[in-house]
Amino acid sequence: MFENLSERLGGVFDRLTRQGALTDADVATALREVRTALLEADVSLPVAREFTKRVQAKATGQHVTKSVTPGQQVVKIVHDELIAVLQGEGPADALKIDNPPAAILMVGLQGSGKTTTTAKLAKRLKDRQGKRILLASLDTNRPAAMEQLAILAAQVGVDSLPIVAGQTAVQIAQRAKTQASMGGYDILMLDTAGRLHIDEVLMSEVQAVRDIAQPRETLLVVDGLTGQDAVNVAAQFDGQVGISGVVLTRMDGDGRGGAALSMRHVTGKPIRFVGLGEKVDALEEFDPERVAGRILGMGDIVALVEKARETFEAEQAERMAKRFAKGLFNMNDLKTQLDQMLKMGGMQGVMGMLPGMGKMQKAAAEAGMDDRMLRRQIALINSMTKKERANPDLLQASRKKRIAAGAGLEVSELNKLLKQHRQMADMMKKMGKGGAMKQALKGMM
Ligand code: GDP
Repeated sequence: MFENLSERLGGVFDRLTRQGALTDADVATALREVRTALLEADVSLPVAREFTKRVQAKATGQHVTKSVTPGQQVVKIVHDELIAVLQGEGPADALKIDNPPAAILMVGLQGSGKTTTTAKLAKRLKDRQGKRILLASLDTNRPAAMEQLAILAAQVGVDSLPIVAGQTAVQIAQRAKTQASMGGYDILMLDTAGRLHIDEVLMSEVQAVRDIAQPRETLLVVDGLTGQDAVNVAAQFDGQVGISGVVLTRMDGDGRGGAALSMRHVTGKPIRFVGLGEKVDALEEFDPERVAGRILGMGDIVALVEKARETFEAEQAERMAKRFAKGLFNMNDLKTQLDQMLKMGGMQGVMGMLPGMGKMQKAAAEAGMDDRMLRRQIALINSMTKKERANPDLLQASRKKRIAAGAGLEVSELNKLLKQHRQMADMMKKMGKGGAMKQALKGMM
């Protein structure tokens, strides 16, 4: 489904992973190629741009883990970003089809594969969830389309609403609804009429049907081969009708696949299923992780980096716990902790993860202990020399002045930091004697 993109990216990363050391320029070059490959796959420009920007940002503050090359790490970052862009804010929920009869409205342009997809989805819900399903075609302009749905329904073994000539789409929807409740169906799927282009007549008809049917789900079927057009169509349908998800058809072809990557970002709506052929069982749930894996085709490297990272984190936690237990907690250690906190969403994020910290979280917010403070503290530590970081006892008045000035802050801020450091060092020493410390550190890596 993403052969071309996959091949292009494969080429870029093969070159990258074969190099021992990577410079920023190597990464930048590779990312330029990634961007070109995305654009050629018809991913929209803002999405491609944002994608490479995020990979770049993550690739520059990387810990370099033993046993993994920088190129391999970049592959893992790209893999994670692919999942993120495919998945959007969070994983798509399952279809809302409890409380029968639930209506599913199928919308889309003519030729997108809407009727076929309706039958495919009906088959899937019947076979996998044992649902009783009624299909109804609302395509009053094309009697052939109504018959096509009836034939497909029989083929997949679900019922279809008898065709009555001369009724409007709204009348058919009404009749279908009554039939669905009286007949004890779990799901009513309404296959709305399509047009070649979005026009007002089509939209107002779909809106009228929607108001009668009160659908639990409104699924837009779009042709994945049409790339950015598919995304534009989705944005328009969503604006005018409101959609709950997208089905991308014809993803079996060697199409460019860009629609899959732009859809969530541009429309905010999840891709629910992909059509992978003309047959009635050629429908697959859309799984961002699997799709990202297919696009990149570098599962081994991703697994390798994950494993290496786990090992690295465990070792680092162990090392730190040992140091703390001996009472060694210098400014570098504090900086590591502060960096981790920032990475985890600041003080708020860290405290939110610890049980019973709700109250402290509030108090911390009130005391102004937020991300800005973390950043100021990190700036102060950055302004210290190596020696000073290793041994904060060196810090006398003149050094303090220099450090504060270097960070653009007052000496009083530095004093606060030093006090906090002493308290933390004491606490770390106490805690370090028990095993809890190692676990806590590991959780924070
Ligand atoms: P509608 O006008 O939107 O209802 O489109 P149809 O359901 O009639 O489909 C139009 C054509 O596309 C038919 O020949 C289908 O077999 C074909 N089609 C639908 N979905 C897919 C798909 O996922 N892959 C492929 N290769 N063909 C598909």
